[in-house]
Amino acid sequence: MDLNEENTIIWENFINLLKSKIAMVSVNSWFKNCKIYKIEDSSENNKPIKIITIESSSNFIRNEIKKRYTDTIEELMESILGKPCNIKFIIPEEKENTNNTEVKNLTTETVIPVEKSSTYEQNYSFSSNLLSKYSFDNFVIGDSNRLACSASKSVSEQPGKLYNPFFIHGKSGLGKTHLMHAIGNYIENTSNLKVLYVTSEQFITDFTSINMKKDADYTEAFKAKYRNIDVLMIDDIQFLGNAEKTQQEFFHTFNNLYDMNKQIIISSDRSPDDLKLLEERLRTRFSWGLTVNIYPPDIELKKRIIKNKMSGHAVAKLVDEEVIDYIASNSENDVRHIEGAVTRLYAYAAIMGPHKIDLQFANEALKDYIKNSIYMDSNISKIQKAVADYYKITVEDLKSKKRSANINYPRQVAIYLCRNYTDESFPKIGLEFGNRNHSTIIHACDKIKEDLKENQTLREIIKQIKNNIS
Ligand code: ADP
Ligand code: MG
Repeated sequence: MDLNEENTIIWENFINLLKSKIAMVSVNSWFKNCKIYKIEDSSENNKPIKIITIESSSNFIRNEIKKRYTDTIEELMESILGKPCNIKFIIPEEKENTNNTEVKNLTTETVIPVEKSSTYEQNYSFSSNLLSKYSFDNFVIGDSNRLACSASKSVSEQPGKLYNPFFIHGKSGLGKTHLMHAIGNYIENTSNLKVLYVTSEQFITDFTSINMKKDADYTEAFKAKYRNIDVLMIDDIQFLGNAEKTQQEFFHTFNNLYDMNKQIIISSDRSPDDLKLLEERLRTRFSWGLTVNIYPPDIELKKRIIKNKMSGHAVAKLVDEEVIDYIASNSENDVRHIEGAVTRLYAYAAIMGPHKIDLQFANEALKDYIKNSIYMDSNISKIQKAVADYYKITVEDLKSKKRSANINYPRQVAIYLCRNYTDESFPKIGLEFGNRNHSTIIHACDKIKEDLKENQTLREIIKQIKNNIS
């Protein structure tokens, strides 16, 4: 396969995945005439990364894609290529400058890197930094996040009036950033208020660059950016750390906005009381408003999040219910990890083109992603252990391809027990016995059932094994 062909396939996979992330109309309007120009290997902080240059038809399209979808593109490309990705763009005019054929001659002027941190220029051309992909509509509610979500909605309906400041805390990956953007987007869509979302790193960067430049214009720009706004959101405030000067500046910014009844929204991975590195006076101010906690999702919520994430995608109808259970019960209590599992499953499906996405397929697709062996502490593994102990063989033997009678018979006993004393399905059991197919499992069950009718010793053995199941 030549490189062009490979890039085309990667791009097609990407577009397929993208359809599950953003509306079809957006895929068509922004991505239709784009393609991969090249993919290069590079490194960042000593880790290998891929640099993907996307060719778009015009400067306008490029800027819009950059603004709206950089994170999404990077995330999806990472799931396809298996390495962190940085995205760059090129347009046809720029290609001509490079003599067309000499790809290596591309200079940094011709490929515009995506800027992530806020810069001097951005202070003049104001950007809210909001990501439109996060909304209340695509936030799935359960017991663990209901309060946080309904308080967020109230804040977005009456910014500056109800809960000020509004402080959301919870472990990483539970939806804090999502809720903040949802609030910001709601306010932008329903009012003329000016919203600014920044991470605490961005705030620090903006602030330290004033100190370095000591340029009056720049100081004004900083003030204009952080004070002429109606809603300020600072994400992951724990990273404000002990940068004393930055904290002071934040304190002033906070007071200034608060006095003008402007809404302040803050998120953190811990409660205000636990933000030991923040000055006492800042922590006190956080407690003036409302503090809500987001808890880890329970299994029901996880399942609904998975379904929500899967829906709308072309292959969603191929997915067995069991696969959803499997991901929900084996992923970490972190929605980011859950989403990663779905993305990976779909990326694998895009490559393999399966007729159905069943447990076996999911297990294969996610084997490096979901750490623990899937049924580690399940009833199946307990039965396997008890049977192996009784017959003085190993669990590996039971799962192996070995067909000698001293292993095959215990294996059939174990399969029989799994089928009759757990709720596990034939495919699940097959999977746990070295990926054996349906008919082998059924045959084993029938065989032992028959034997039991005649064989008193076997009945005793099974009784004993059952007593030994821990
Ligand atoms: P945090 O900021 O708390 O670390 P994020 O808001 O970045 O977490 O959430 C991680 C990912 O999980 C995001 O892609 C987000 O959209 C998703 N997510 C989290 N909670 C939910 C939810 N309740 N419904 C839908 N998606 C969610
Ligand atoms: Mg976050």
